[in-house]
Amino acid sequence: MSTDAGATGATTRVSVIGASGRMGSEVCRAVEAADGLELVGRFDVDDDLGDLAGADVVVEFSVPDASATNVAHCVDRGVHVVVGTTGWSDEKLTDLRTRLEDHPEVGVLIAPNFAIGAVLMMAFAAKAAEFYESAEVIELHHPDKVDAPSGTAARTADLIGAAREQAGLGPVPDATTHDPDGARGGRTHGIPVHSVRLRGLVAHQEVLFGQTGEMLTIRHDSFDRVSFMPGVVAAVRKVSEHPGLTVGLEHYLGI
Ligand code: NAD
Repeated sequence: MSTDAGATGATTRVSVIGASGRMGSEVCRAVEAADGLELVGRFDVDDDLGDLAGADVVVEFSVPDASATNVAHCVDRGVHVVVGTTGWSDEKLTDLRTRLEDHPEVGVLIAPNFAIGAVLMMAFAAKAAEFYESAEVIELHHPDKVDAPSGTAARTADLIGAAREQAGLGPVPDATTHDPDGARGGRTHGIPVHSVRLRGLVAHQEVLFGQTGEMLTIRHDSFDRVSFMPGVVAAVRKVSEHPGLTVGLEHYLGI
């Protein structure tokens, strides 16, 4: 299997699942433009994945209901996978880890956000979390997004919750006026998360930290889906060096 184009000069063969979608079609363009990568297969709903067109690495951007099955198909064939689809429950992650035990050479990366700035935003938020009494997340996306809260918001809340726990802080205290009708809001990992769906948006997030007399806002905006492509291409190049399951692009980037 030739997956280390950088070291050997070989070409990495890449197939895309969800290739007709907004992200999948952008990934196809990015792979075609990248040195050392060759786009060998485009798959979408109703296509037989078969041998994945002989790919070394598959990039998977489909729908939450289908992603785990698609990834299992790749793993069972010894093919590395870079996954952008959100909606991975703890149960699905556990099943995938179990499956990977039978394929110890295979690498799978699941990343809720491939934009480098979003990865930095999550890291900065985790750093800030232990210093503030209050923390809330506002995620804003285009109205065709199928899930809420976003995978990035869930991951951010997870990181903030873990940092607060390590610092001996409990859940964020209740605010009496917070989201009174409960619409598009709730708590994820003990952190209030608000979801906005608005025509014209792509993918945006604010993380708000507050305490008496001050407030810190960390914000990231993806204005165009090309913002995700450097992260996707970097992940395709590195996934074979990281056998097993990795969650979060930060682990590949040393952030
Ligand atoms: P989309 O609806 O535009 O595309 C999804 C594609 O998957 C469609 O072409 C659809 O036909 C196809 N599909 C449906 N069922 C399938 C199946 N069983 N097998 C193969 N393909 C199937 O959605 P999108 O905006 O491209 O987003 C796709 C996913 O990526 C979503 O979960 C979204 O939240 C996520 N996303 C992740 C990032 C990131 O950086 N990780 C960024 C943006 C979006």
